Amino acid sequence: MTKTKIWLSSPHMGGNEQRYVKEAFDTNWVAPLGPNVTGFEQDLERFLGDDVQVAALSSGTGAIHLGLVLLGVQSGDEVICQSFTFSASANPIVYLGATPVFIDSETDTWNMCPVALEAAIKDRMAKGKKPKAIIAVHLYGMPFQVDAIKAVANRYEIPVLEDSAEALGSRYKGKMCGTFGAISVLSFNGNKIITTSGGGALVTHSKVIKEKAVFLATQARDQAPHYQHSEIGYNYRLSNISAGIGRGQMEVLQDHVNLRRAMHNFYQHFFASVEAAVVFSEPNADYYSNHWLSCITLASEKTSKTSEALRLAFESENIETRPLWKPMHLQPVFASCPYYGENTAEALFNKGLCLPSGSNLTDSDRNRIGDVLYQFFK
Ligand SMILES: *Cc1c(COP(=O)(O)O)cnc(C)c1O
Repeated sequence: MTKTKIWLSSPHMGGNEQRYVKEAFDTNWVAPLGPNVTGFEQDLERFLGDDVQVAALSSGTGAIHLGLVLLGVQSGDEVICQSFTFSASANPIVYLGATPVFIDSETDTWNMCPVALEAAIKDRMAKGKKPKAIIAVHLYGMPFQVDAIKAVANRYEIPVLEDSAEALGSRYKGKMCGTFGAISVLSFNGNKIITTSGGGALVTHSKVIKEKAVFLATQARDQAPHYQHSEIGYNYRLSNISAGIGRGQMEVLQDHVNLRRAMHNFYQHFFASVEAAVVFSEPNADYYSNHWLSCITLASEKTSKTSEALRLAFESENIETRPLWKPMHLQPVFASCPYYGENTAEALFNKGLCLPSGSNLTDSDRNRIGDVLYQFFK
């Protein structure tokens, strides 16, 4: 008999989601607007604090796309992007006919290296083009070096688009991730820390930008009784049904963060006695990760065991794990894009593994995971 599957990160309902969805049916708000959309936006604004404005959208990818439009990115422009990330961070650059310029990571947070960032900006400017925006990512929930990245961005007056898709509930110096960008982005895809089955949000400090985002996300209709358009629009608003799921999920978001952080503690506890493995953790008290995914790296100078062998050991027990993100500058589709840095992201890709991290894992799941780890490392 095959054992039940343990997922890397699966949806975890809180209980009230169906109540909000039922309300939407009962009142016939089955549309990409309605009380759940407004309510979900208000819940997110309250959670993030710092007087932000939230526009609920149909995906994180759509939010990045709209964010770049709002930052004025056009065909022929260059946009800087962290290389060590999911492809959705970079794809919208190409949707707009612009070119991604990829940047390596530093080893403390695994996110954009501020030194490589500055080198890239200087070189692109010397070559005649100032990058239009910088997409920095809080990968796996770990905040990037916010002060250092923003210092470089400010020096060259280039706006930061903060990809906080994996970092809802993470904090840097006490402030919520998702509040640091000129524009910030959240995702509520099925595998994220909370989900609306599919969805995203654009976060800004400006009411005008929020209104512009909603205008563009609803086909850019001018004020007129007929349908009139002076700009190209998009169909990117979140459905009132999905937003109902989101409202239920907001009631359990902090619990989910606590449970993911407990999974991270579980792995730290296990790996304390495994000298060749390091559990990816906050570099210091300025950083508070939601630990969306718990990750480890194996030191090849200390062990002949590989992350791929560990992945296969889990797979044979019907437990899902996953290699770290393959850097964008190594992806066939982005092979011709400029890249600045060394091999930090590549080295992480070669030695790392994401372990089951869901907020809904049970003691029995943890026992099965622990058994695989024990057998593999004993
Ligand atoms: C999930 C994710 C996105 C995209 O969000 P979707 O809602 O799936 O479109 C963007 N960036 C990162 C880093 C992500 O993990």
